[in-house]
Amino acid sequence: TKCSSDGDFSEGEMVPFGPIALNPSSGVLNYGQGLFEGLKAYRKTDGSILLFRPEENALRMRIGAERMCMPAPTIEQFVDAVKQTVLANKRWVPPTGKGSLYIRPLLMGSGAVLGLAPAPEYTFIIFVSPVGNYFKEGLAPINLIVEDKFHRATPGGTGNVKTIGNYASVLMAQKIAKEKGYSDVLYLDAVHKKYLEEVSSCNIFVVKGNVISTPAVKGTILPGITRKSIIDVALSKGFQVEERLVSVDELLEADEVFCTGTAVVVSPVGSITYQGKRVEYAGTKGVGVVSQQLYTSLTSLQMGQAEDCLGWTVQLN
Ligand code: PMP
Repeated sequence: TKCSSDGDFSEGEMVPFGPIALNPSSGVLNYGQGLFEGLKAYRKTDGSILLFRPEENALRMRIGAERMCMPAPTIEQFVDAVKQTVLANKRWVPPTGKGSLYIRPLLMGSGAVLGLAPAPEYTFIIFVSPVGNYFKEGLAPINLIVEDKFHRATPGGTGNVKTIGNYASVLMAQKIAKEKGYSDVLYLDAVHKKYLEEVSSCNIFVVKGNVISTPAVKGTILPGITRKSIIDVALSKGFQVEERLVSVDELLEADEVFCTGTAVVVSPVGSITYQGKRVEYAGTKGVGVVSQQLYTSLTSLQMGQAEDCLGWTVQLN
């Protein structure tokens, strides 16, 4: 869908996947005026298709659009466009347990600008791709390295919105970590260089006894929808959840650490390396009982195998 800077995204069309024409002087190519979202459609055993909290992605895109000086689709327009795109591609939604259909909405300044300014025209696109389960054979722990030289976000920056530039800035840190054999990078805050923020594309939780702690959403981390959902699931299971400053030193004392995100769902952390020191979290076969319990609870909701008391899923057909 295309619209002018006053923002009307009511007209859209379904076109085959392929390259799009973009003005060389568009706002997105020159000044990074772009946002994206990520969500998944799962197939239930009866063949029908479920979305998980799509209105949360719509809302996050609207909040991000304000920060990036862009108009955005309404929540209704966003969710409707996601539904239509998934239904038009329903043959690509894998069978239950074999993965999901990843949905990627994009909002960008497609109009021409030369001097630094918001673009005069915007384009909203959704494309989809089937993806396998992140972990092929059950949960497998990931190994993280704490980064204290590169930062993902700074106070007053754009770390709390899903703008494309946030991801460009972490490519190098991620590349270095992968070359050293780590799965991903865990970032610290840029001011004190001591509090946990998040991983390149997921949020982080630290478990100690019955208490599950996670960095509070205070402007520099992305407010993950999986994060928000896992907090509610954990509370309903009787855990105490604390959203606060979590010091890197707490990693030494933790029973378990796990990450949450649309791609990784709930991913146990097997080890964390910080300043050359490696802390290991063993658990059963490297997967902590709390991580396993929360993973099972969330995925059974997302795949329609547990009763959706909270109305988190949207059935499409
Ligand atoms: N943090 C970052 C930086 C991310 O890119 C993502 C993925 N969107 C997340 C956290 C997790 O968010 P969600 O649970 O909404 O996928």
